[in-house]
Amino acid sequence: MISYDITEWGKSLQQSVREQPQPVGSEVLIRIKYCGICHSDVHIRDGFFDLGGGKKFHMSERGMKLPVTMGHEPFGTVVAAGPEASEAPLGQDVLIYPWTGCGTCARCQEGMDNWCPTPRFLGIQKPGGYAQYMIVPHARYLIDASGIEPEFAPVLACSGLTTYSAARKLMPCAPHDWIVVMGAGGLGLMAVAMLKALGHQHIAVCDIDERKWPAALALGASQVINPAQDGAASQLAGLAGGVWGVLDLVGAESTAQLGLASLRKGGRYVVVGLYGGEIPVSLVPMAQRALTLQGSYVGSPQELREVVALAQSGRLQRMPTTVCPAAEISSHLDRLKTGDVVGRMVAHWS
Ligand SMILES: [Zn+2]
Ligand SMILES: [Zn+2]
Repeated sequence: MISYDITEWGKSLQQSVREQPQPVGSEVLIRIKYCGICHSDVHIRDGFFDLGGGKKFHMSERGMKLPVTMGHEPFGTVVAAGPEASEAPLGQDVLIYPWTGCGTCARCQEGMDNWCPTPRFLGIQKPGGYAQYMIVPHARYLIDASGIEPEFAPVLACSGLTTYSAARKLMPCAPHDWIVVMGAGGLGLMAVAMLKALGHQHIAVCDIDERKWPAALALGASQVINPAQDGAASQLAGLAGGVWGVLDLVGAESTAQLGLASLRKGGRYVVVGLYGGEIPVSLVPMAQRALTLQGSYVGSPQELREVVALAQSGRLQRMPTTVCPAAEISSHLDRLKTGDVVGRMVAHWS
């Protein structure tokens, strides 16, 4: 089979030809049809995330050994199963929950694989969908996404799940309350669509790239603001009723500072984006303003089932999605790195 692999940190992916994997035990083999190309793969290919203050989070220190086959938004057909995977739906097309844990720790037993202290995420620690075939450790990670267009479904496993889990952390939320979405990239646009699908009305989107504004407005944002312009903070502060919640899909010092400053008393700031940086947090005003500062990282298998059900109900608007041949994955990662992409990219295996 063909895969596109990181063979050297920071370099283009290389095509390799290798044996098709065979499922053992509870494992399931998937023939990939589509796999979303995610912005976080840009960082993984580079080999590190910037933590701010000169600190870096190196993938090599987190159990990643080269070569690595990325691709954590896979969708495909179940083609084989190990002897302990009798419940595997052979022949069916499925969406794959990629944020798999060790399967045995307390978090995994609770169904919170994404909080497992020893993650075995597919497409990160384990081979993913930038390959013709991939192994999934257990059939419980396969999700029936019938009724959803197969090129849209992969987006649900990462940006869909991530924004759903983050938005849920702002609920319950009154309809008149404002939620600010920082960033109108793939995650930001999905956050707007997700908030609308969850019935929310008052959404303001902040992005310095005004070319991304029409897509945000089309998905249901009621305000767009350029955070780099003078007056952005007072525009946010002037939203009637105040800002209840911020979903920061960028996660930079500038967005965190603006986001936290814009919150009304009792407000919640949820950081999701991994751009990197750090901010000083003044504790007294945090207490006096009764703020909540929370992180959110992907979501659980149950939350992905809820996202798929939301998409199947027709309430979640389809994201602008561009399909490309799998051979172009690396060049699209280059484009994501320069920010030259509106909406999501999905690789297709023919
Ligand atoms: Zn992703
Ligand atoms: Zn675990």
